[in-house]
Amino acid sequence: MTAFLVEDIALLVTNDPAAGAGLLGSISAGALVVESGRVAWTGPAVRAPACDVRIGAGGGAVLPGFVDSHTHLVFAGDRLGDFTGRMTGAPYSPAGISATVAATRAAPDEVLTANVARLLAELRTGGVTTVEVKSGYGLTVPDEARALAIARMFTDETTFLGAHVVPAEFAGNRDAYLELVTGPMLAAAAPHARWIDVFCDRGAFDEAEARRVCTAGMAVGLTPRLHGNQLEPGPGVRLAVELGAASVDHCTHLTDDDVAALAGSATVATLLPGAEFSTRSPYPDARRLFDAGVTVAIATDCNPGTSYTTSMSFCIALAVREMRMSPAEAVWAATAGGARALRRDDVGVLRPGSRADFLVLAAPDPGYLAYRPGVPLVAGVWKDGRRI
Ligand SMILES: [Zn+2]
Repeated sequence: MTAFLVEDIALLVTNDPAAGAGLLGSISAGALVVESGRVAWTGPAVRAPACDVRIGAGGGAVLPGFVDSHTHLVFAGDRLGDFTGRMTGAPYSPAGISATVAATRAAPDEVLTANVARLLAELRTGGVTTVEVKSGYGLTVPDEARALAIARMFTDETTFLGAHVVPAEFAGNRDAYLELVTGPMLAAAAPHARWIDVFCDRGAFDEAEARRVCTAGMAVGLTPRLHGNQLEPGPGVRLAVELGAASVDHCTHLTDDDVAALAGSATVATLLPGAEFSTRSPYPDARRLFDAGVTVAIATDCNPGTSYTTSMSFCIALAVREMRMSPAEAVWAATAGGARALRRDDVGVLRPGSRADFLVLAAPDPGYLAYRPGVPLVAGVWKDGRRI
């Protein structure tokens, strides 16, 4: 593959503080050289090396592709009825997951695969170049293994979430379900998964159960990431830090001790503003996390029940408007923060050697993603140096 130069960039966001100004490592009137799918050079356009192939960014901003570190794309059916009910007064309940479980189990492979492909195309169009996908709507040994095998066709960032909820057929026997999840289901899922996840919250799994699931996964080489503290204060954050989880996701209800634990750890706090939006719930206060020095990511949480969006731009706008992030912090959280949540240093950043995953905005500054909410500003997306 020949090298090419991206020029006519109003602002190049590198996320490399050594390369440019501020949190985003921004370079005004910047340029970018790509070679063999990797970034070869970044800097001011006036110092750019000669290059035969040039691509104009139209005076827009260029930033790393979004890293969506939390999705549930393998499912069938929808839950428009749940959403409509919540918008007219019904509270959110994790029990709604069982409707999606029934639809997913009944769906043929081709339907699930086509649904993932459709949602991934939406994500890509919106600028997402790295995506994590969870299982969790099968909740039987073959259905969880199937979900992860389908997810693996699209991404290496796959997460086994057999401990999403206890399925209806085990309602009277939680312990038998945990035996299954940590035994035969884990064995069938692990070859297709990098991560293990558990929903540690009211109506899902308690602290002891969540610890049991995570330690079983760690014993077979998976790294934990947790759903925690979404519905009420609880043990999820502290357990995630104790286990060295890559991320604890939602973090809506945090005590001062939770914030302090996160600040002293390598565990990322992943915020999912689409979930609060779609369940009309109070948003977490990201300002409190940034001020304490916590590493923060934002992700779409794309799922049919509580956040049926694939738009990182929308999540950035919500994070700024509702979670008290600055526009720069929200852009960082959607790129570098997501990469940290997946323990990746080759994405979420544009510096020599990183993957040439980037997007061009039809706007001169990434702050426009929050300033012009709902407007499709992503004008072009490149993954591994190829336009998609
Ligand atoms: Zn989730």
